Amino acid sequence: MIRFENVFVRYDGSAGPAVQGVDFTVPEGELVLLVGPSGVGKSTVLGAVSGLVPHFTGGTLRGRVTVAGRDTRTHKPRELADVVGTVGQDPLSHFVTDTVEDELAYGMESLGLAPDVMRRRVEETLDLLGLTALRDRPIADLSGGQQQRVAIGSVLTPHPKVLVLDEPTSALDPAAAEEVLAVLQRLVHDLGTTVLLAEHRLERVVQYADRVVLLPAPGARPVLGTPAEVMAV
Ligand code: ADP
Ligand code: ADP
Repeated sequence: MIRFENVFVRYDGSAGPAVQGVDFTVPEGELVLLVGPSGVGKSTVLGAVSGLVPHFTGGTLRGRVTVAGRDTRTHKPRELADVVGTVGQDPLSHFVTDTVEDELAYGMESLGLAPDVMRRRVEETLDLLGLTALRDRPIADLSGGQQQRVAIGSVLTPHPKVLVLDEPTSALDPAAAEEVLAVLQRLVHDLGTTVLLAEHRLERVVQYADRVVLLPAPGARPVLGTPAEVMAV
């Protein structure tokens, strides 16, 4: 579902590459963890999946990244929005509306869907993420874990095949983090969504992963394996 072929990225003005030799595949319907220390290139890899790198960041991408068969360099991020949903660490920076329900609807607005389809997808997503009771609440009043679930919900309503998340639990306490990770696991198991999740703390998320991609050091090639194999590295 996601394929990196010998990918090299260098940002304009930096001396060396942000990542190089990145080569891995994420099969459909798996939750894959991208781990490695800060600065090793995790956000760069996620950005190459969603098309933000290099379209919005500038710089050079060599090699090839495809998502559901689409080359992310030849498609603009908005041409990938129905395929890839992206969630960052800070849910508040993600929101464009005031209430939970409006936020879930917003992500579909450019897709040209019929109003009844949009309403049904909002209902499904509220239910899936356990947000139905909060639908009319201002997002600003919710807990961090609830806000992160709304952010995930807002990118789910276009029914993307792939979800990429950049340290989505880093601002959350352990209970809220577990809530978010359980939601992701349910998406993978119930809907067959493919999830690529970046995290620098392996322990917190490894139990949820089907497979791990470890970026051991800046510029080093990734190590692929099962959670147990990568924990042993
Ligand atoms: P991680 O997510 O693992 O912390 P990043 O992908 O954010 O790693 O960063 C990888 C390297 O690329 C770092 O050296 C970082 O400073 C650099 N970098 C990231 N984004 C940019 C950018 N927009 N412009 C220039 N350098 C960047
Ligand atoms: P549409 O929204 O195109 O009218 P439906 O609402 O009938 O279609 O949903 C089609 C199928 O997609 C349903 O089986 C539903 O469970 C499933 N579905 C719901 N949410 C998602 C999602 N986030 N990603 C993929 N499929 C989803």
